[in-house]
Amino acid sequence: MNRRDSLKLMVMAGLGAHAASATGSPSETRKGAADFYKEPSRKLPIRQFDVVVAGGGTAGVVAALAAARQGAKTILIEAKGYTGGTVVEGGTTLHSFFNLWKAFPRVEKRQVVRGIPQEIVDRLAQLGGTTGHAEMSKGYDYDSACTAVDTEIYKLVTLQMLDEAGVFVCVNTLLTGAIMKGSRVKGVITESRSGREAIYAKCFVDCTAYGDLAAYAGAKYTEPNDYPVANSIGVAGVNVERFYEFLKAHDAVGRYCEGLRSGKPGQIIRLEAGSGNLPRELVREAAKIGMALVTTTVHDDYFMFIKLNLKMPVSPTNRDEVAKAELELRKRQARAIEIFRKYVPGCEKAFIARTSPSLNIRRGRMIVCDYDITNSDVVEGRHFDDDIMAYGFHDSAPQFQVKNGGTYGVPYKALRVAGIDNLLAAGMLITSDQDAHMSTRNTVCCMGQGQATGTAAALCAARNCGTRDLKYPDLRKALEKGGVYFEG
Ligand SMILES: Cc1cc2nc3c(=O)[nH]c(=O)nc-3n(C[C@H](O)[C@H](O)[C@H](O)COP(=O)(O)OP(=O)(O)OC[C@H]3O[C@@H](n4cnc5c(N)ncnc54)[C@H](O)[C@@H]3O)c2cc1C
Repeated sequence: MNRRDSLKLMVMAGLGAHAASATGSPSETRKGAADFYKEPSRKLPIRQFDVVVAGGGTAGVVAALAAARQGAKTILIEAKGYTGGTVVEGGTTLHSFFNLWKAFPRVEKRQVVRGIPQEIVDRLAQLGGTTGHAEMSKGYDYDSACTAVDTEIYKLVTLQMLDEAGVFVCVNTLLTGAIMKGSRVKGVITESRSGREAIYAKCFVDCTAYGDLAAYAGAKYTEPNDYPVANSIGVAGVNVERFYEFLKAHDAVGRYCEGLRSGKPGQIIRLEAGSGNLPRELVREAAKIGMALVTTTVHDDYFMFIKLNLKMPVSPTNRDEVAKAELELRKRQARAIEIFRKYVPGCEKAFIARTSPSLNIRRGRMIVCDYDITNSDVVEGRHFDDDIMAYGFHDSAPQFQVKNGGTYGVPYKALRVAGIDNLLAAGMLITSDQDAHMSTRNTVCCMGQGQATGTAAALCAARNCGTRDLKYPDLRKALEKGGVYFEG
């Protein structure tokens, strides 16, 4: 590493607060000076790969699979001990593999996201880990299908698929810095109980949701703090049918779907309270703790996700404010159980069966890319000459729906991190317009972006070219070969 690189590395690694090594020398003795500890420089072991995927969540799993299947020597760096990210911690259902066909009666039903995301669903189905793509029978102006997944089987299946594809999976490993050479990422720094390492590669994909890698690499970003954070709970000791009867009795069934549950077809798998005449006290108490009365399930007697939301005063990259939010969300979880036991028949013995290890975000950093998808692109169903996928779901439906139950295209340029030659981004960290983000941030769109970025990164690595030099027809051909569906 030359002097310029090492200087830049020090700057990039300074973004996060890192624990100091025990052998450094204090430099904070001058009176009035800020407290700083000067870390001694260290030699790090280097590992060499073709592609680094940072973050093994919704998008990252698919990105790593796609890169490895293109023949790239691929490493996946994930902070937690499992893969799956927000899919297994926060979300209720995978929105959405389909166009909004039921809301537009003359429109043909089309599965618009296929490829690796569908393969994951197929693998889950083999183990009884999904409801399948069930048709919504109420509330289908929002989504026409409901695909719910078992969170624990999802973790297993994705780890198995990564292993089969030959991805070098580093779980329990935190990405803590970037090594830059001009406008190229040369490598990343990781920390784990096996020590601190430098991982070099030709191309990089940031799927950390927070945009950690892009930020360390010096990319431009904003922190809009425009959503609440959440920690969803899995609630057991409940009776879904009695919950349904309760909502029905109060004319409050908002969304409803039947599908495969505990191996039996035709069971309630999605239930959401709508406006009706629910007991006012219940509505008030639920609102106080940011509780949404919506759940999906793949098991009898289980609400897979009950969301507790909290609006933080600052961006969730602020560690100390996050600490306060973690405590408040734990209190809200306990209160949620009290509310279920008190007000909802069939839930008298409800208890928390699962929580997320840490709070979930809907947006951390918004990374500036070569193109920024607008809500007009989404609702007008715009396609681009560099589409990498088609997508048809909007989380603000029915206020915003893609025109005529169709799709829009996610362009490749929306995934190229601006100003950096060999860094792509996929997941909730793109799209500044919050209305448009209410579409692009959904799980199935993030997965599709993952397949595109992983494929593109592998092609760039094989051709030794930057992400802007990759020829679109080559990317398109590889994506089509990988089962990706295109429209427009
Ligand atoms: C409460 C909630 C409910 C939602 N409900 C739905 C829903 O019902 N349907 C739907 O389609 N979408 C839903 N969404 C949105 C959707 O789930 C997310 O936007 C999407 O899953 C984000 O995918 P991602 O790959 O960007 O991030 P994630 O899936 O969060 O993956 C990021 C990964 O990066 C890892 N990571 C982060 N930083 C580092 C680092 N420095 N080093 C190593 N690893 C790191 C994380 O541990 C994580 O595994 C919901 C979101 C929330 C928060």
